[in-house]
Amino acid sequence: MGKIRIGIVGYGNIGRGVEQSIKRNDDMELKAVFTRRDPASVKIQTEGAEVKHFDDMEAMKDEIDVMILCGGSATDLPVIGPKVAASFNTIDSFDTHAKIPEYFANVDKAAKEGKNVSIISVGWDPGMFSLNRLYAESILVQGSTYTFWGKGVSQGHSDAIRRIEGVKNGIQYTVPIEAAVDQVRSGSEPELTTRQKHLRECYVVAEEGADKAAIEEAIKTMPNYFDEYDTTVTFITEEELKENHSKMPHGGFVIRTGETGCEGNKHVIEYSLKLDSNPEFTGSVLVAYARAAHRLSKKGESGARSVFDIAPAMLSQMTPEELRAHML
Ligand code: NDP
Repeated sequence: MGKIRIGIVGYGNIGRGVEQSIKRNDDMELKAVFTRRDPASVKIQTEGAEVKHFDDMEAMKDEIDVMILCGGSATDLPVIGPKVAASFNTIDSFDTHAKIPEYFANVDKAAKEGKNVSIISVGWDPGMFSLNRLYAESILVQGSTYTFWGKGVSQGHSDAIRRIEGVKNGIQYTVPIEAAVDQVRSGSEPELTTRQKHLRECYVVAEEGADKAAIEEAIKTMPNYFDEYDTTVTFITEEELKENHSKMPHGGFVIRTGETGCEGNKHVIEYSLKLDSNPEFTGSVLVAYARAAHRLSKKGESGARSVFDIAPAMLSQMTPEELRAHML
């Protein structure tokens, strides 16, 4: 059987993570990377794959089984998602939670018209965390669910720091508060405020002569980003930033606790991720779901799906027989 032929649309952190994951999945091959930039300016790491402009996608309709969309959620995917779904099977990691229903509807319409399958909002949150919330809540129907993120880099918060006057560079880590996690694990179902769940740690490189006290104040009081959290600000050099803070780690926990029976027996379900590289992990999830999209498309299905709609066996390279023999 031939390999599943993949296209990557948008070559940033996630695009590079998807490329690395394809190399580790021997039932797949990368055919082409599509970019809005000058293709000659984008260097990829897969021999034999091409770099093409977005405008050249249609010409490769018969050469690509699944397009993995790696654009940003804020402005890229709302446009690119439905557009590409009209011509190709697609996977994406759209993560603007509040807009998922609207995005799903737009992609669904385009995918149905094009007779393609599109699996949206794939990754870890949304994605693996969503699945684990669903499994846990379906089993422990009475209880409480908690999601903690980190320790990990938040791109949005790091960008917000970098926009402050006098800041040359900076990075922000979201850190779960251990005491809160322990309290949740105890099964006491506490009500926790935003401030009680996460800390925000900022490492900032200030411009020469900048007012550090003013920068710290601007960070700690920034509405929507920092004002509802306890935030630490540490000033470091550009060299320290490069040496100690250039990776993109992330992770977190989904925990559900609940009771069953008439004696109120307690149960704890926990799913935890500790990721050295958020983009490489997210890329690996996207690639597993690309296999599912290809299989569903070959069965003649079309339209949008979320991770909730995909049977687990669809993700694996193993056949259902092999899965039953080795995994059950
Ligand atoms: P990037 O900013 O790295 O890339 C986004 C797009 O920007 C790329 O597709 C690329 O498009 C363009 N780009 C990248 N590098 C450059 C450059 N040097 N110059 C100009 N343009 C560039 O974003 P990420 O890959 O880190 O993240 C993409 C999205 O993934 C995020 O918006 C987030 O919503 C989502 N995500 C979802 C997760 C989940 O769990 N569901 C987890 C992590 C991320 P082009 O090649 O066309 O120029």
